[in-house]
Amino acid sequence: MSTPLFPLFLDLSGRQVLVVGAGMVAARKIQPLLDAGARVRVGALALGADVAQLLAAGRIEFLAGEFSESWLDGAWLVLAATDDDDVNRQVAAAATQRHLWVNVVDDARLSAFHVPARIERGPLQIAISSGGGAPMLARHLRERLETEIDESFGPLAVMLSAARGRIRARYPRPAERRAFFDELLAGPLPGLLRQGQHEAAAQELQEALDKLPVRKGMGRVALVGAGPGDPGLLTLRALRVLNQADVILHDHLASDAVLDLARRDAQRIDVGKRARGRSTSQDDIHALMLEHARAGRRVVRLKGGDPFIFGRGGEELQFLRAHGLAYEVVPGITAALACAAYAGIPLTHREHAQSVRLMTAQRKESWQSIDWQALSRDGQTLAVYMGVSELDTLRAQLLAHGRDPSTPFALIENGSRPEQRVITGRLDEMPERALAEAVVSPALLILGEVAALANELHWFGEKPLGGELARDLSRAA
Ligand code: SAH
Repeated sequence: MSTPLFPLFLDLSGRQVLVVGAGMVAARKIQPLLDAGARVRVGALALGADVAQLLAAGRIEFLAGEFSESWLDGAWLVLAATDDDDVNRQVAAAATQRHLWVNVVDDARLSAFHVPARIERGPLQIAISSGGGAPMLARHLRERLETEIDESFGPLAVMLSAARGRIRARYPRPAERRAFFDELLAGPLPGLLRQGQHEAAAQELQEALDKLPVRKGMGRVALVGAGPGDPGLLTLRALRVLNQADVILHDHLASDAVLDLARRDAQRIDVGKRARGRSTSQDDIHALMLEHARAGRRVVRLKGGDPFIFGRGGEELQFLRAHGLAYEVVPGITAALACAAYAGIPLTHREHAQSVRLMTAQRKESWQSIDWQALSRDGQTLAVYMGVSELDTLRAQLLAHGRDPSTPFALIENGSRPEQRVITGRLDEMPERALAEAVVSPALLILGEVAALANELHWFGEKPLGGELARDLSRAA
């Protein structure tokens, strides 16, 4: 491998640059030099059409004839862009002799500097180099970045550089300034610029500067839904918050694939680890959030699925509020939605289900207060969280209250993850089927007519392990 190049951005305004050659290639190189304010002298035997136009417009100076070393006088930078290799070599040698930086178009070996592929958004520039070895790759990457970095970065850069003095005066300490920028850029400002609302954007910036600074020594907590496991199901906002986190308190349900996307140097605390069957108590989790936020850190409380669905998110917010800590909530895709989608089960269906209930079967004490009558009516879908160990009781209650024994169910284990399994069958054989297939946590139960559609609409992972029902259906077909 060759020695890496050293990237630079040059201020060429008012400085003389010599370009040898005046064909199409040279013209392409001259324009950006002029844009950067360089005084361009073009030396060549004859002028191509484009360069002639620049001369007529008075934008360049022309040195006619064979290359002469005297052309280098006063130049800071030299570009050789003729179609004659000998001349290019001659220019490179003469420039090198004088310790001038020289580039020979398409010849990395003769070049002392390379002109990178670049993306421009106003004063903001991204330059890409492959070290001269694979310019096509650099160009390819540039095209990809072009589509990803939207136009609003130009005005954003202009606006922020105009406000630089004010921002520095307001937040003299780099850490505070960084927090200010993080917050500003996560807010509505970039969106306003994207929509061309420059005045509103300027106002937004002013308001952010006028606002009381984030209380010193006070961090904040983001309650973030990590989704069911597939990192592709994380929201963009969750990703951004994870990238800014100093500390991440995560559940056992937040998958490694999701955690891999978080900031590398964030401290990770697994509060869901079940050492000898016990996980960190809710009080301990509260205490950890408080401790880290009070130390001025940005805390992410990362929960599987959505934080407000059977995730005790409400309790945690009440605690934060009671202690005067700032917080935000980032919703996630809850297990019922993700498992249904990844098992090919539409939770509602015009013919089979007009409503869906999200319920948990975990807290036995509350079973008396459950309206089993209502849950047992057909034409609705039940999505049962934490229900694997209660399948017996669930079946007994539902059958006792009149649900049809042939009602289809689907148990989705590790929904959306590579190891996903789907077990289907009928309500009356549900616990036995789960036992036979050794279903483990996390698993979600979907009960209702729509569950049978998994056998037809599955698309992710292995096809469903069907019981009696699937066999009946395939016999009928
Ligand atoms: N807040 C979470 C639910 C927490 S309760 C959410 O919104 O999804 C934990 C239960 O969620 C598990 O017992 C299981 O029933 C379900 N669950 C979570 N992730 C799951 C997954 N990837 N596959 C199947 N079930 C899941």
